[in-house]
Order: sequence, then structure tokens, then C-alpha cells
Amino acid sequence: MTRIAVLDKEHCRPQKCKFLCHRMCPMVKTGRDTIVIDEELNKPVISEELCSGCGICVKKCPFETITIVNLPEELGEPVHQYGKNGFRLYNLPTPKEGVVGVVGANGIGKSTMIKILAGEIKPNLGEGAGWDEILERFKGKEIQDYLERLSQGEIRAVYKPQYVDSIPKVVKGKVKTALKKNDDAGNLDDIAARLDMENSLNKKIGELSGGELQRFAIAACLLKDADIYLLDEPSSYLDVRERLNLAGVIRGLKDKFIFVVEHDLVVLDYLSDYTHVIYGKPGAYGIISGIKGVRVGINEYLCGFLRVENMRFRDEIKFDVRPPSQKSKRSELVEYPEIEKRYDEFSLAIEAGILYEPEILGILGPNATGKTTFVKILAGDVKADNTKLDMKLKVSYKPQYIKPGKGLVKSLGIKPEFIERFGIKFLMEKPMQKLSGGELQKVAIADCLTKDAELYLLDEPSAYLDVEERLKLAKYLKKFAYDREASVLVVDHDVLLVDYLSDELLVFSGESGKNGKASQPLNLRDGMNKFLKELSITFRRDAETGRPRANKPESVKDREQRSKGEYYYVG
Ligand code: ADP
Ligand code: ADP
Ligand code: SF4
Ligand code: SF4
Repeated sequence: MTRIAVLDKEHCRPQKCKFLCHRMCPMVKTGRDTIVIDEELNKPVISEELCSGCGICVKKCPFETITIVNLPEELGEPVHQYGKNGFRLYNLPTPKEGVVGVVGANGIGKSTMIKILAGEIKPNLGEGAGWDEILERFKGKEIQDYLERLSQGEIRAVYKPQYVDSIPKVVKGKVKTALKKNDDAGNLDDIAARLDMENSLNKKIGELSGGELQRFAIAACLLKDADIYLLDEPSSYLDVRERLNLAGVIRGLKDKFIFVVEHDLVVLDYLSDYTHVIYGKPGAYGIISGIKGVRVGINEYLCGFLRVENMRFRDEIKFDVRPPSQKSKRSELVEYPEIEKRYDEFSLAIEAGILYEPEILGILGPNATGKTTFVKILAGDVKADNTKLDMKLKVSYKPQYIKPGKGLVKSLGIKPEFIERFGIKFLMEKPMQKLSGGELQKVAIADCLTKDAELYLLDEPSAYLDVEERLKLAKYLKKFAYDREASVLVVDHDVLLVDYLSDELLVFSGESGKNGKASQPLNLRDGMNKFLKELSITFRRDAETGRPRANKPESVKDREQRSKGEYYYVG
């Protein structure tokens, strides 16, 4: 075993704790330099050689910033390490022609891996290695040839960053003009058509919506002629149709290396030929698994157990393939009337329906068909045109766009059980305005669930959450609804999450930005069938895990299910 000690320097605050770790370490007490204080940085430095692994500092640190773990000897030295007591990444992926999907929590090293492949970071094998050592280390491995080309500067890489929101700050002007600059092979019209971008080509970049900006960034990347395409979270802001459509466009790149980091497992599955799972401890270390076929890789990921590696990294996430709970076991919470709403350019019509308790009602539908408007009407934030909706219910609402308040996170008064559940203890002292997207999302969900209500409305809770957080959220929301006997509405584009959660589905359809309509709540099978039929895509359930999988168009299953009108196979 090799012992590693990692310190999360950003959250370590010696001015508050007066170096408690240093004061409590039994080795330091006996006069050894196991923890010393770096005067310049004003941070502790832990010696991995002298540490006995007792774990006292880990437990005592009030900010949970120390990780001490033993890793198997076979892992060898890390491929890359960010300085003393810094995060480290083990192993490298295998570039293969086709699409390699990368799945793992945030902070586990995905961007580090991508930057290595793009030649932005030269792996240091722990510290300061040169190319000779790196090439020697990977001799005989599938990545050897790639690394040799990388070391010679012969790899042309293009990269779609995770956050697209900041693009308008650096790229100005018209969408079409900006894309033309990248159009190496004259594919602009084709790619724009396939990404459904025609309406945004003549807009200014500063005017684009999140979804348009995402497609702009992807197009800019795919138009380039490169050896390797690295796409970090391409599905954010896109609806299900756009996500699956995008998958088709990416798969259209032939004979190239393509790596995609993605937290929506249905999309990752549909998109990729292979997968690498990255596991470990976020912020401390990440281990890149061997390359796996996409089905096996995602199944093992959900199971929390990697077979070849013989490694359990979490409990299994099980899918309930039985029909969801019977209506008779649930009681009626409220009946809402038919709802109509008109804006200048948009009109919405929703059939009357019933909400039950306990229940999770999933809401699916294309962008700009009125899902958020409906939720806001239920929350009482927007008035319907045709009816005075007064359901006399206690409602708690998490909006899609979260506006952080002025105070510290702790001023929200989130209940300790939710602080624990969402792992947000370390954020309590932070100002809300300083939180990252994912942190803010978790705080907002925890705050929403803390409130005592009969109806909980969660608009896009998966946005900015990583795959682990989504799976945990799905599991927990189900328990929450049933333990509290509450009604929970969840609008989301992550089909795996919605499928896992929902007792019933409300399906929106219509022409984005022009009109939207919704049926009454349907059972999962009928709801999914309606939703998928409109998308013209069929889904099956994976035999081993029960998770939903999109069928490849024109595959045997696709044709068979289409002919039966069975777009969603419950099994
Ligand atoms: P992911 O893409 O999976 O979210 P990253 O590769 O961005 O993960 O980061 C993995 C870890 O490495 C994080 O804990 C991050 O704080 C740390 N890290 C990333 N870049 C640096 C850097 N330049 N210096 C020090 N630590 C870094
Ligand atoms: P979804 O949640 O399905 O993406 P929304 O309910 O957010 O859809 O929006 C539906 C349509 O209504 C969009 O075209 C949006 O621009 C329009 N819309 C929403 N709120 C307003 C408003 N306050 N004034 C005018 N148009 C609006
Ligand atoms: Fe000291 Fe124990 Fe922490 Fe190692 S694990 S640094 S020995 S307190
Ligand atoms: Fe204090 Fe924890 Fe930093 Fe040690 S690691 S100085 S205990 S905050």
C-alpha cells in the first residue's frame, strides 16, 4: 500500500483553527516533522513518509480538508499531481477511434485528464518528469503512440469547455461570422442544420440563450479539423431532443478520437462506443479505469463495482422495473383545473389533473413549451389567465434559475439532516454569491426541502450536478416523498433521473417559444410512450440494471418496438 495525504488548500483555514491538525498529530507530539507549517503559504504540509495513518488530523480538522488514504501499490506513481499534498490522477485513458465517454464525479480529475490529452498539461508523474520518462512509463500501452505524437507537438486538439456562459465575454459578433473562422472543411451549413441552429446564425453571440450558446460552442469545435475532439458536458441547457440529436452529430465524426465528459447517463450511453469510469475521492485523487464497452461501463458505474479492477466504490443504484406504486395506495392531495396562459408570443394550455400524496410527478418536454410557467403558476408566482388558482396548499419551490441571496449560506436555516444529506456543511460559512453552480444547486434543493410543505416544486434540479449527485438526489427524493407523504414535482431533462423518480409523468409538447400543451398526468409507461413518440425515438430497459437505454435508430429493437407502437419498453 502507498499512503497519500491530500490537503484541500482552498478550504483549509488555519486562522480559524490555529493549526489544529498540527497540534493534534501524535507523531508531531513525539517530535517528528509529520506535519510542518509552511510559513509562506500559511498552510500545513503533511509528510506521507512520516505519517502513521492514524487519521486523527482527518477527524479533527473542522473544515474536512484532509484526506489520508492507502492506495494499492500496483497503481504506482500518479500520472499527474498538483504539487505537494495536491490532487493526483492515476492512469491514462485509451484513445480509440470513435467516441469514448468519460463518467465520474466532479473534482475527480476529468478536466485534468482532458487537458493532458489536449497537450495543455504535461503529465509530471508526481513531480517534474520529462517526456522521456513519460514515454518510458507508457511504453507498450495503447496510449504510447498518442503520447509520442503529443510530445512532438503533432496532435491537433479542440476542446469544448464545460462552462459556456462566459463565451460572450471573449467571443463577440455574429454567430455565423464566428463559426466561419473555424470552418476548416466547409461544413458550416451542414453542421448548423444538424444542430438545429439556423435560427441563431444571424444573432449576436451576446443574445444567445443557454441552449443556443451550447450548440454554438459545440459547432465551433466540430467544424475544426483536428485529431482529437474533447467535449466537456455538451448536454447542459439542452432538452432531450437536442441532446439525442447532438449525439448523432458527434457520432458523425469519423476516424477521429473523441472524448466526451457527460453526466446524463442516457446521453452518454447513446453517444459513446466505449467508456472510462473515473473513481476515487473528489478533490483528493482520481483513478481512471480501463476502457470498457459502453454498456458494461455504465452498468458497472451504476452498480458501484468495477469488475476488472475488482473495485467497489459505492453502493449499487437499483432501478425499479416494476410499475410504479399503485394509485390506490396514495391519497389525493389536490385537483388542479384546466390552466391557460398567454404571453405576447407564447400560449399555454394544460389539462386539469390530480396531484397525489405521496407522489413524484416527473415533467418532461422540449425547451420553451411552458414547463417553468406551469410550475410558477402552481407556486403562485404567475397568474393563470382563465382561473384563479388557489389550491390552499403549502408550497415550497426551487426555481430553475436560482438567484443567490446576500447573506451566508447558514443564514438560510437549512435543517441539519439536509446539510448532511447534500454534503454542504463546508459551505455554511460562505456567502451565497460566491457559490459555484453545483454548490448553489445543492443549497437551493436542501433549502426547498427544509421548508414544511405539502407540495414541493423542483425545476431542473439536475442542472450543474455531477452524475454522482444526480443519482444520490434521485434516490433521496423518492425516499423524501414517501417518508413525508408529500407531493413532489420534478421538471428535468435527464431521462434516467426522471425515469428513476417518477410515479407519474406530465408530458409537455408543442412548438418551442410559440405554444405548449400538457396532458393530464399519465402513468410512467403511457407518459414515456407519449414523450418518446413525439421525439421519434425508442427506449428499452437494460436487462441487467433496468436502466433506460435509447435504441440506436434502425436497430432491430428500434424497428421491432416502433412497429408495435411500444416506444418505451417497461419489461
Ligand atoms: P473534474 O474535471 O473531474 O471536475 P478537475 O480535473 O478539474 O476535476 O480537478 C480535479 C482536482 O484537481 C480538483 O480538486 C481541483 O481542485 C484540482 N486542481 C485542478 N487544477 C488544479 C491546479 N491547477 N492546481 C491545483 N489543483 C488543481
Ligand atoms: P420551458 O420551461 O418549457 O422551457 P417556459 O415556461 O420557461 O418554458 O417558457 C415558455 C415560453 O414562454 C418561452 O418562449 C418564454 O420565452 C415565454 N415566456 C416565459 N415567461 C414569459 C414572460 N414573463 N413574458 C413573456 N414571455 C414569457
Ligand atoms: Fe499525523 Fe495521524 Fe494525521 Fe498522519 S494521519 S498526519 S500521523 S494525525
Ligand atoms: Fe486547520 Fe484543517 Fe487546515 Fe489543519 S488542515 S490547518 S486543521 S483547517
